[in-house]
Amino acid sequence: MAIQSINPATGKVYKTYSPLRLDEIEQKLAAGEAQYQHYRWTSFSDRSTWLRAAADYLEDHAEVLGRIMTQEMGKPIGAAIAEVKKCAWVCRHYAEHGADYLADERSAIGYVRYQPLGIILAVMPWNFPLWQVFRLAAPALMAGNVVVLKHASNVPKCALSIEQIFRKAGFPEGAFQTLLITAEQTATVIADERVRGVSLTGSGPAGSQVAATAGQHLKKVVLELGGSDPFIVLPSADLDQAVETAVMARLQNNGQSCIAAKRFILVSTIADEFETRLVDKFNALKVGDPMQSETDIGPLATPSILQDIHKQVHDCLISGAKALVGGNLEKLKATLPPELELGNFYPPTILSHIPPGTPADQEEFFGPVALIFRVQDLDEAIQLANATAFGLGASGWTQDSAEQQRLVNEIEAGAVFINSMVKSDPRLPFGGIKQSGIGRELGRHGILEFVNAKTVCVS
Ligand code: NDP
Repeated sequence: MAIQSINPATGKVYKTYSPLRLDEIEQKLAAGEAQYQHYRWTSFSDRSTWLRAAADYLEDHAEVLGRIMTQEMGKPIGAAIAEVKKCAWVCRHYAEHGADYLADERSAIGYVRYQPLGIILAVMPWNFPLWQVFRLAAPALMAGNVVVLKHASNVPKCALSIEQIFRKAGFPEGAFQTLLITAEQTATVIADERVRGVSLTGSGPAGSQVAATAGQHLKKVVLELGGSDPFIVLPSADLDQAVETAVMARLQNNGQSCIAAKRFILVSTIADEFETRLVDKFNALKVGDPMQSETDIGPLATPSILQDIHKQVHDCLISGAKALVGGNLEKLKATLPPELELGNFYPPTILSHIPPGTPADQEEFFGPVALIFRVQDLDEAIQLANATAFGLGASGWTQDSAEQQRLVNEIEAGAVFINSMVKSDPRLPFGGIKQSGIGRELGRHGILEFVNAKTVCVS
């Protein structure tokens, strides 16, 4: 895939970048390693100061950074600005709590000291082009590691901006570097002995290939992969709140979020009501230019994401599913102004009556498509929620505390949110089980992924 900045709303190519040559990669890894030998001995206080400066920079430049994201991957501008501010939050969180998270852990027979590992490679996706990077980089840098970033090929401007943010914040030269490299070149970086760990956020196939290379070279990996999160609505749920939240939970980021609610599992007594209200909400959404603040849904990030979701919906429809709203690309195109004709737009879509054996069973739908399933009771809801290879998050809606506890205990996922949508938060660990990933990001768990937990006994 070419490293190219393309506006997904118009198809306009802004810039094509040449991938780094081998000797340039070598220079950057050498600079990273040289800096690591110094940076690892800097104090928590200095690292906190730099992280706070990064947070200030992000907040001061939220609008311009938001525009870069929107121009490169199409998220609505309001959401892009909010993402920049969330990056500031994660920097401040680790600036404030990092030293406590990494304090020596004493016991009667000795103590554990947490020390950095070296260069950590971040392989990151385009869907939250700043957030995904900052949630890895802030704890990694606070722990005394240095970071090299291989960002997705369609967001090079975001990738270069991130390097600039850390430089402007005062981090020493080489503590954070962006490598404009292809997916194929990444294996060389993973294999390099100076690189001590890899964190990837993205698809299962990418995660499995990166983990295989890391395994071959005995490197630590953290993987944050896809999801097909259930959103379970039981009879006692507050339907107003559940429907309102369902729209955001499914359509945030134009539907391209790993923790988006993708499968809506409705108990039959409330299913008609929920479905009707959700259809009304989807019908009211405005699809269009993501730079306009009134736009709800912008374009998908790339033509291939558009083709994938269109094929998944098509396969469901020919198997007998019903589109309650959306699903018709031509109809949407007719409503768009000429300048957006080449954009990767897909209509907000709701599928119901989905028979078994369609992509809805096991695939991640990475776009604005809600999949509705009806069940008789909680037992069936839990069974269906778990009938997937993924295990990232789950949202359950019920006022009944016994039902809440069953969801918490029995759902196979890295996170269960009751009466709210699944969200990441710097204070809480984030990650999946099953095919959704390995390890955790954020919170104390996140900062402990890329450190040496050194056991110390002094006799
Ligand atoms: P990928 O998983 O292919 O890309 C994510 C990152 O991994 C990019 O930086 C990519 O680089 C890199 N990458 C991909 N393959 C390799 C490899 N073999 N070795 C090293 N690096 C690699 O995601 P796509 O953009 O192709 O999206 C496909 C699907 O993945 C989506 O439809 C969605 O289902 C899922 N996805 C999930 C995300 C999540 O948040 N969990 C985020 C993005 C996608 P490059 O861009 O150069 O290929």
